[in-house]
Amino acid sequence: MDCIFCKIAKGEIDHNRVYEDEHTVAFLDVNPAVHQGGHTLVIPKKHYELITDVPEEELGALLSTVKRVSKALMKFGHGVNVVQNNGKVAGQVVPHIHFHVIPRFEGDEVKFCYWDVHKLDKEKMDEVHEKIKSLLNE
Ligand code: 5GP
Ligand code: ZN
Repeated sequence: MDCIFCKIAKGEIDHNRVYEDEHTVAFLDVNPAVHQGGHTLVIPKKHYELITDVPEEELGALLSTVKRVSKALMKFGHGVNVVQNNGKVAGQVVPHIHFHVIPRFEGDEVKFCYWDVHKLDKEKMDEVHEKIKSLLNE
């Protein structure tokens, strides 16, 4: 499969790897969100597209690496955002699941697309409440 992150996981390209273990690799994003750098991507070595595709054991390993990287980046900067996009509509560009771990600095001008909030009437809120609960039990 012609996947850029599979090639990075195999060590075929990219030299900015910062961490590796049995299941995961962490490397610097080529286009960091902060001018200070340090924006890190955490991926599974095996190719999965979405968070929902990853087996529990590997997901646990991924989160453990996200925590490890976050701990380092909290010392590199002053805070951290963890961002994970699933599907084109959610902003996913590379179809190999990845967590962005982005160090934050006082006064940085990182732009996230924050959402406008919506007020749902009680009927709609109850309907959605029931729907999500039933989807969680499927
Ligand atoms: P997405 O929008 O899919 O959540 O994020 C994909 C990320 O992968 C982007 O932040 C982009 O800069 C990064 N990226 C894409 N291609 C490469 C690459 O070849 N090397 C590295 N290090 N990062 C990449
Ligand atoms: Zn891949």
